[in-house]
Amino acid sequence: MDKTTRIIPARKRIALVAHDHMKAALLEWVSTRKDQLANHQLFGTGTTGTLVAKATGIDVTCMLSGPMGGDQQLGAQIAEGKVDMMIFFWDPLDAVPHDPDVKALLRLAAVWNIPVACNSASADFLMESPLLNEEYATTVPDYSSYLQSRT
Ligand code: PGA
Repeated sequence: MDKTTRIIPARKRIALVAHDHMKAALLEWVSTRKDQLANHQLFGTGTTGTLVAKATGIDVTCMLSGPMGGDQQLGAQIAEGKVDMMIFFWDPLDAVPHDPDVKALLRLAAVWNIPVACNSASADFLMESPLLNEEYATTVPDYSSYLQSRT
């Protein structure tokens, strides 16, 4: 597939998601990164986003709750270039009813080549990256040429 570049802005649009057994861990991590996160624009699935907003006082644009369609909404935002980075504490030890949605969200994050962290260590590495506060040209599928090749 042809590739092109998409500019990820210096002020990132960051999606935050945590499965139920991981919410406490995400909230703890967020509390250590609150000042940094406040410089960016936050998105989240319904419950996670609401909890983060309450805990930090930072505005979070909330989708529906994950199992009700929120993961799919975030996936769509990633595909449309409206979310630049994702911190997704998915639960490695318990099954969730919306596993297909979780897979779809992670898949779209890979397709559209956005930075993703699935645990606090990788989230720390993202936050310590000099690229966090800089514009970054990410390589993404060239959708126009993809469409042209099929029509
Ligand atoms: P929630 O959704 O933040 O609404 O709990 C998270 C998820 O399970 O995807």
